[in-house]
Amino acid sequence: MSDSAPEVDVIVLGTGCAGLITALAAADAGASVAVYEKGAKLGGTTALSSGVAWLPANKYQADHRVSDSIADGRAYLTALSNGMILPEFTEAFLESVNPMLEWAEQRTPLRMRLVPGYPDYHPEFSGGKPGGGRSTEPELFCFDQLGEWKDRFLGFRRPMAVGETPVGGGTGFLTPEEEAERTSQNLEGLGRALLGALLKGLLDRGVEPQLERAAIRLITEQGRVVGVRFADGTQARARRGVVLATGGFERDPELVTAFLRGPVSHLTGAVTNTGDGLKMAMQVGAKLGVMREAWWVPVVAEPGDEDTQYALHGVQLVQRERTLPRTIMVNGDGRRFTNEAANYNALGGAFHEFHPTHFRYENQPCWTVFDQGFVDEYGGFGVPAGGEMPAWVTRADSLAELAGALGLPAEQLAATVQRWNDLSARGHDDDFGRGDSAFDGWCGDRRHYPGPLATLGPIDRGPFYAAPLYSSTLGTKGGPRTTVDCEVLDVEGSVIEGLWAVGNAMAAPTGMVYGGAGGTLGPAMVFGYRCGRAVAGAPA
Ligand SMILES: Cc1cc2nc3c(=O)[nH]c(=O)nc-3n(C[C@H](O)[C@H](O)[C@H](O)COP(=O)(O)OP(=O)(O)OC[C@H]3O[C@@H](n4cnc5c(N)ncnc54)[C@H](O)[C@@H]3O)c2cc1C
Repeated sequence: MSDSAPEVDVIVLGTGCAGLITALAAADAGASVAVYEKGAKLGGTTALSSGVAWLPANKYQADHRVSDSIADGRAYLTALSNGMILPEFTEAFLESVNPMLEWAEQRTPLRMRLVPGYPDYHPEFSGGKPGGGRSTEPELFCFDQLGEWKDRFLGFRRPMAVGETPVGGGTGFLTPEEEAERTSQNLEGLGRALLGALLKGLLDRGVEPQLERAAIRLITEQGRVVGVRFADGTQARARRGVVLATGGFERDPELVTAFLRGPVSHLTGAVTNTGDGLKMAMQVGAKLGVMREAWWVPVVAEPGDEDTQYALHGVQLVQRERTLPRTIMVNGDGRRFTNEAANYNALGGAFHEFHPTHFRYENQPCWTVFDQGFVDEYGGFGVPAGGEMPAWVTRADSLAELAGALGLPAEQLAATVQRWNDLSARGHDDDFGRGDSAFDGWCGDRRHYPGPLATLGPIDRGPFYAAPLYSSTLGTKGGPRTTVDCEVLDVEGSVIEGLWAVGNAMAAPTGMVYGGAGGTLGPAMVFGYRCGRAVAGAPA
């Protein structure tokens, strides 16, 4: 390795939530830190996200009279584990939630708060919270504090908190005065607020990320990782460790085919997440875990601007449009196949159902089908109530015509809709239990929440509409196995000295579970904090 390569204690690769919080925790613990980012902008998928972090038994709950405990969090994760969560990760996660939040409040500009009422994603499981209390979000952050760095994040300015949006239980509207006030102060919410606050903490400690510096190889000496080589041919050296915070491998088709358990298409998130950290870890003999899993999500594809949140690279996440009354999902046989209002991650299971005789994924492609009543009352796909659906949504005067346009069996589609209308009239979905869970109606018609009518309602007023729905992901979950302090393990289970991994680059601490809103960023924050402390030599 070149003697002239710059040397610090800790190198962090990637500037999403996991990378920045790790870098900040390490710098705050006294380490010298260098942060390298592959993209031309900061923030990765985190910058496009809502910035919600799922943190059981968190310190804000007391003010909202939420009853929670580490024991409840443990019971919940254990009940959902399916053998994929290592118990020591559950303990480390739950025990570090409040130390991480205390540290953030005392030592950094980051301020989190509760999104009141947001139910867990499987709230009826042991230890689950139907009334919410575990989903937190960053307070609005003033980007003017970042000086020349304020325009260097991926995504665009969103001056709202998630609790103010329909997904978080709000209206989605600010008063003109509030809007003007936030604009004049350059306030932002959601994922960029989280990142902005973390970056401010780093800048205050003299750490400036370096953009367009893609790491491609780890450098080892006598089995220890001592540095990295970049795509531009330069190198950097780390005395204490190199942290892989490079996100998932969802943008590498070969890795996706090799590892993921079912089909994904129409990807969301940062295009730079091509599994570089995974490849580097494999090159030095890392043991891998949770490789088949991702943070699954259904999406629609529309022509759109790559830089807007709900048109990520022409793709929109679909939540309200499958949850509100007057809409169902059908497969190529024209049949319903699942509880459409279930959480997006769990729906991956329905999309990955494989028929042994047909030898195909039975529920891909599929469509969300809705009626004029839905359009008039709720709107959807970015269109306000009563607006005109975009051209990429199929519209027909009758269900038979709709079936013809989509190539679905008309009689079956008519029977499916009739059955749905009958069940809606009876007030219970006997077929798939939609509306049974406290989560189901959360993104539905809030006038009827809680209760099944927040999500049940007939499809009976033409014209009728359909939009194709694809199985996608917010990011993959697999990566190198680590200790609870994020040191990467080799195939024999021994620590690879000098190598660490966090966020979507590590084998997910929560296995196949998405505990509640913020289920990816919550663990990323907690384990990033643990990693940063530990790599700096001051374990949490
Ligand atoms: C629209 C949307 C909304 C979401 N909302 C939420 C939410 O509210 N709550 C939640 O928990 N999750 C949410 N998610 C998921 C969440 O955003 C991601 O799981 C999370 O941001 C991953 O964080 P990370 O730091 O591991 O990776 P990222 O934020 O993706 O950061 C990885 C970074 O590493 C960089 N990188 C890659 N390779 C290299 C390399 N070789 N060298 C240097 N740098 C490299 C990338 O360019 C990128 O900047 C959402 C996702 C989307 C798409």
